[in-house]
Amino acid sequence: MTDIQQRLQQILTTLPQGVRLVAVSKFHPEKQLMEAYEAGQRIFGESHEQELARKVKSLPSDIEWHFIGHLQTNKVKYIAPFISMIEAVDSLKLLREIEKQAAKADRVVRVLLELHIAEEATKYGLTLDACRQLLANGEWRQMEHIHICGLMMMASNIDDEAQIAQEFQTAADFFREVKQQYFADDDAFCERSWGMSDDYLIAISHDTTMVRIGTAIFGPRVY
Ligand SMILES: *Cc1c(COP(=O)(O)O)cnc(C)c1O
Repeated sequence: MTDIQQRLQQILTTLPQGVRLVAVSKFHPEKQLMEAYEAGQRIFGESHEQELARKVKSLPSDIEWHFIGHLQTNKVKYIAPFISMIEAVDSLKLLREIEKQAAKADRVVRVLLELHIAEEATKYGLTLDACRQLLANGEWRQMEHIHICGLMMMASNIDDEAQIAQEFQTAADFFREVKQQYFADDDAFCERSWGMSDDYLIAISHDTTMVRIGTAIFGPRVY
């Protein structure tokens, strides 16, 4: 087993049943993704559409690609034909563009709404109120080529574990609120994507269903 495969296996043993691993492979070469693939990993997360398009061409076709970064509307067309899930949707404008491009590609694209709960001003995402407004607006109900499957968020990048836990819990409570109000009959609305290398062990006690882990598998990114 390679180091990557060993770290991947070690992480998988810590995940409770029902929590899936998104291997965040941005900035890592195809060869390293293949090591994870050969160890059985099938979900990979990327955040740059050009890098993603390159990797999609050269890697096995049964990989489920998640777009986890901030997506500009003018880039949606490049990934709509193949992307499995767009995790960080934070505006109605972006949702409309995904609908348009997914329709052109004759697909249904699964999306998550990204929440902004962390303290940092630099983080993208919808405030809880903005997310409530987007859902109350109801336009998403007419979009036949997207499926809103849950919520995604990043906790503050800090050492204070109590604060991080509180942010995850806020997201978990909010998930329950919107599930009840808008998606009670939709079993596909079930995903809570939170937890990264430094905080996924906290996230698993706060209702996460998908952890997005890069550094702890592949090592530090070289930008
Ligand atoms: C890069 C990234 C991750 C992975 O971060 P690590 O600390 O390397 O695990 C997770 N989520 C998002 C949105 C990212 O951009």
